[in-house]
Amino acid sequence: GSTIGILGGGQLGRMLSVAASRLGYKTHIYEPGANPPAADVAHACTTASYDDHAALAAFAASVDVITYEFENVPTAALDLLEAARPIRPNRRALAISQDRMLEKDFLTGLGLTCAPYAAVNTLADLEAAIARIGTPAILKTTRLGYDGKGQVRIMALAEAPAALAAMNGAPAVLEGFVSFSHEVSVIAARGLDGSVAAYDPGENVHKDGILSTTTIPARLTPAQRSDAVLLAARILNALDYVGVMGVELFVTPQGLLVNEIAPRVHNSGHWTQNGCAVDQFEQHVRAVVGLPLGDGARHSDVVMENLIGDDVDRIPAILKERHAALHLYGKAEARPGRKMGHVNRVRPKV
Ligand code: ATP
Ligand code: MG
Ligand code: MG
Repeated sequence: GSTIGILGGGQLGRMLSVAASRLGYKTHIYEPGANPPAADVAHACTTASYDDHAALAAFAASVDVITYEFENVPTAALDLLEAARPIRPNRRALAISQDRMLEKDFLTGLGLTCAPYAAVNTLADLEAAIARIGTPAILKTTRLGYDGKGQVRIMALAEAPAALAAMNGAPAVLEGFVSFSHEVSVIAARGLDGSVAAYDPGENVHKDGILSTTTIPARLTPAQRSDAVLLAARILNALDYVGVMGVELFVTPQGLLVNEIAPRVHNSGHWTQNGCAVDQFEQHVRAVVGLPLGDGARHSDVVMENLIGDDVDRIPAILKERHAALHLYGKAEARPGRKMGHVNRVRPKV
């Protein structure tokens, strides 16, 4: 096959398209929103809703394999696409990561550790969950949350009604608050032949619920580093996964806890663009088209900084920095909280 269909036209789709193009593949983006960042660099872009079954059918017919950078594609659209072309990563991986309850049940079923959790639909559920799990705790919508949206911190039982109201009637999950020392993520890939390659874990710092920086190497002991990579491989194998996945972890004195998984290239893997010969975007392309994976070895230490909202005002200064690789997404308007680009500050590994 020579054309890769990508559901979602954001910056991840844009960087996937660039990587695909470098390997001689074409990409076709499917995106409901107008002027998606990926449209500038893809070979074709369909702007249509996920309810437009004629547009979906034409899209599927024009590509050889379908992947995604956006997880919340409606089931009916996926059914239609999957009848025509393979979807990689597979539907099970997508379904599990779309739903925090399925995700936690899957991860704990694999023998991995998550924060204590409970499903919450009613005030009685929430009060019982708080009684069991304790406070502080975090109530999260089961579906559709990102960048910390759809989450409320609960410090005391009396806050239960207000926290539940903030869910707007959507199913939710209560999680015990983890007093982690820091957060790391593993970006790992699995090929069509079942081989697995992982990048060195990165250490993530969030600001206002949004990823701010990823630092490589992370502060991890050799044992924690291999634990992190092995648990990611266990997840990929259990899902018969094909593609790149991001696995977010909390580092605690009791070991590594899994926060969540993302069945796609991940913001905390952007450092690989300037730290590795084969970055996460090329790795994902290789996986979904059935090429051999590149190894995850890195040649440099990297600090990736997201440029969010008016951080774009610092671009002229960043352009004058040495060893700083700037990546911009071509978004016209810099709104608060909007990811505009990132910078990878690189230092050759000693
Ligand atoms: P993303 O953009 O990564 O998909 P999200 O909206 O899915 O974000 P989470 O990753 O669940 O949100 O949470 C965002 C951040 O909030 C975490 O990276 C962590 O810093 C903090 N957090 C989430 N859950 C917990 C928890 N149970 N205990 C402590 N901190 C937490
Ligand atoms: Mg998430
Ligand atoms: Mg997260």
